[in-house]
Amino acid sequence: MATATATAPAKPKHVKPKVADQQMLVGGKWVGSASGKTFETLDPTDGSVICRVAEGDRADIDLAVKAARAAFEDGPWSRMNAAERGRLLNKLADAMETHKEELATLESLDNGKPINDSLAADLPLSIACYRYYAGWADKVTGQTLPIAGPYFSYTRHEPVGVVGQIIPWNFPLLMQAWKWGPALACGNTVVLKPAEQTPLTALRVAQLAQEVGFPDGVINVVPGYGPTAGAALSSHMDVDKIAFTGETGTGKIVMKAAADSNLKRVSLELGGKSPNIVFADCDLDAAVEGAYFGLFFNQGQCCCAGSRLFVQESVYDKFVEKVTAKAKGRKVGDPFDPAVEQGPQVSQEQFDRVMGYIDAGQKDGAKMLVGGGRVGEKGYFIQPTVFCDVADEMKIAKEEIFGPVMSILRFKDADEVIARGNRTMYGLAAAVWTKDVQKALRLANGLRVGTVWVNCYDVFDAGAPFGGFKMSGLGRELGQYALQLYTEVKTVTMAL
Ligand code: ADP
Repeated sequence: MATATATAPAKPKHVKPKVADQQMLVGGKWVGSASGKTFETLDPTDGSVICRVAEGDRADIDLAVKAARAAFEDGPWSRMNAAERGRLLNKLADAMETHKEELATLESLDNGKPINDSLAADLPLSIACYRYYAGWADKVTGQTLPIAGPYFSYTRHEPVGVVGQIIPWNFPLLMQAWKWGPALACGNTVVLKPAEQTPLTALRVAQLAQEVGFPDGVINVVPGYGPTAGAALSSHMDVDKIAFTGETGTGKIVMKAAADSNLKRVSLELGGKSPNIVFADCDLDAAVEGAYFGLFFNQGQCCCAGSRLFVQESVYDKFVEKVTAKAKGRKVGDPFDPAVEQGPQVSQEQFDRVMGYIDAGQKDGAKMLVGGGRVGEKGYFIQPTVFCDVADEMKIAKEEIFGPVMSILRFKDADEVIARGNRTMYGLAAAVWTKDVQKALRLANGLRVGTVWVNCYDVFDAGAPFGGFKMSGLGRELGQYALQLYTEVKTVTMAL
């Protein structure tokens, strides 16, 4: 009897793109840098050069700001109606959808994140963000004010003007979308400086924006380094607002530069050391899954990573055993292999830094259950690492690691864990795992953070604001709240 041979479904094949050297976009023109300098962007899987990129500095930022100013004051952008701005944002989203595979492969190449993550998270979230703000463009309205006396008084929510935006390397496409979506919907013009480690997708999206019809000068992209191009942007006298995402220390420098120049408006999305709190009365398997995802996702390179994992003592051992088994099974390797869950860290610098924290954890006496080493001999791959018996004062429990290193702490009760959860300079996010609704709400109210997830982790939506309490930032991105970052309120009062 003949047996049917089942043909296995063809695995999706994602091809590492070849990338030509890149210029910058200033005033609708693709140009080299004023100095003629370029820098290399590297493939984090082996440290090889992907291509060279025009290296912007003060002179280039100045030209980009002039172009953005002209587009804001006099160009077609200033005369365009709001609905038309929304239409352009939707067209950009459509173009990204059409080029989804290309953008995802470019993102994975430059950043090292698994292609499946780029396709399942970065691309759809970025596209959804542009669509969300496309919808807002013609709905940004002021109020009429019942003031005393024979007057007609109302407010207008006007664009801030020329906006400088500095983004990091962990979610290049998404951070660009969080910045461009609301800024453009509100009618600002932008100068974006992508991270020097990952400039490629920002440049490609800028090209798409140009193709769908954004007028010259409305968007400008100047790649370059932080202390040069970034500093030139944050200290520029004709930039009306600076929006920054990155480390808390850099955020301070940016804010100071804004204060020392023209008091430009500042919004900051900075670091975190987010408590992820697992109570004994939770669905333990769901909590293990959520804690694993909330820490290891994106190679641990998330500002909101659940990097202080508090587990209640009665389920501590069981939890630690389960999460360690999962970490052991995590597949690390080539981001272009669809089966891979974890790629390399973004750079040698980040690799060294994370390895330094693994050392510190061991020296401080935490117990390392799995991982701790590099994977392979080239590239910046790190084994998923789990520490238990971590104490609050250890370095790995206090500082942002930004890598695949889980720190598990033990706690007794709700009061204690709220106090310990809040004992940090950060306040970005937190999560609580419990089936007790009252406990969940008590924690949600007691934790001084910008986002609390209950029985879930890393749930992001363009409609839900995100940002930090304390030294995790200033202002809220996403949702309706981001419109406040990109508008000035003007009061007009007319005698009747
Ligand atoms: P990381 O160390 O993880 O790269 P940073 O906060 O240094 O985080 O980087 C985030 C972004 O800030 C990047 O685009 C970087 O180039 C930029 N940046 C770094 N230093 C400065 C600075 N002094 N002024 C303005 N931007 C900066």
